[in-house]
Amino acid sequence: MIAESITTLNPAHREAWDAGRVADPENLGDGLWSVPLELPGDRMPGSYAYVIDGADGVHIIDPGWNSDANMGRIVDLLTGLGRAVDEVSTVVVTHHHPDHLGLAERLRSASGAHVILSAVERRVIDAAVSVGARDDVSYRDVLDRWEVPVDRQAELIAAFTAPSLIEYVMPDAEVADGDVLVLGGRRLTVIATPGHTSGHICLADRERRMIFTGDHVLPRIHSGAGLGILVGDDPLGDLLASLERLAEFDDCQVLPGHEFRFTGLGQRRAQIAAHHLRRTRVVASLSNELGDASVWEWSKHLPWTAGWANLRGFRLHSALRQTEMHRDLVRSGRAEKWLSRG
Ligand SMILES: [Zn+2]
Repeated sequence: MIAESITTLNPAHREAWDAGRVADPENLGDGLWSVPLELPGDRMPGSYAYVIDGADGVHIIDPGWNSDANMGRIVDLLTGLGRAVDEVSTVVVTHHHPDHLGLAERLRSASGAHVILSAVERRVIDAAVSVGARDDVSYRDVLDRWEVPVDRQAELIAAFTAPSLIEYVMPDAEVADGDVLVLGGRRLTVIATPGHTSGHICLADRERRMIFTGDHVLPRIHSGAGLGILVGDDPLGDLLASLERLAEFDDCQVLPGHEFRFTGLGQRRAQIAAHHLRRTRVVASLSNELGDASVWEWSKHLPWTAGWANLRGFRLHSALRQTEMHRDLVRSGRAEKWLSRG
């Protein structure tokens, strides 16, 4: 177990998070504000929008879940700054999940703002619109591929058809790795960080040594890999590579999509990689014995916190999905370089 080694930069936001409260916005200087937002349901208490109040307009990174209360929080902040919602000119979003992209459409209709996403996330949304993310016919194919017994399929299909993770907002502009957005005098470099979703991006302010990490790196939560469709052949391998990708920003202040801002990115990157690689190591050690066994069979041999026999519904789905990702990472040969390091 690696000791907690990050530094919490706003203890009040951390306390509010732990108590399930939505904290007040925080002034981060040079026109940058973090705005805590609510997130309904019991998964997590909230998310952060980051608002840049610039001479060239107002720019918002990850506007958060679409609710009246969240819209009110953003409008209140802008009013306090002497700005109006129709001055929002840019909404840039790290990935397509509704706790980040949710309010984008409402802000665009209120202001004519440009919504910016990575080109890959746009393809994810396109695909979701055309095939239907909740298409349980194609999910049945997945369950057959995993060789899930027929009497266990119904609970998985029920869990899968629960509210979708896709938010159908089409961007006005697309960005790719290396592009630079100049917003409120800040030069934000787009860093492609596939893994959590296939088109996830971080935004790095190299001059100020700050990085907006969305769900790629959070201070305590493991946000997981391969959440969505069009996840690529090896989302876990992509995630591990994307963690390494941020090495040049280890000295930066981290502005994440959830929890609280912090420093200690290098330690946190190592913790997240080690967390995933623990299971990869188990899979690698069983690969001679289990070989081409089905995902269902593989999953029975792996350690699960709740115990394999107790996994139901979404947690069973998640276990099977993780099993497949770790098995594929080992099979691809990509796991070796990470496992050999320690
Ligand atoms: Zn999120």
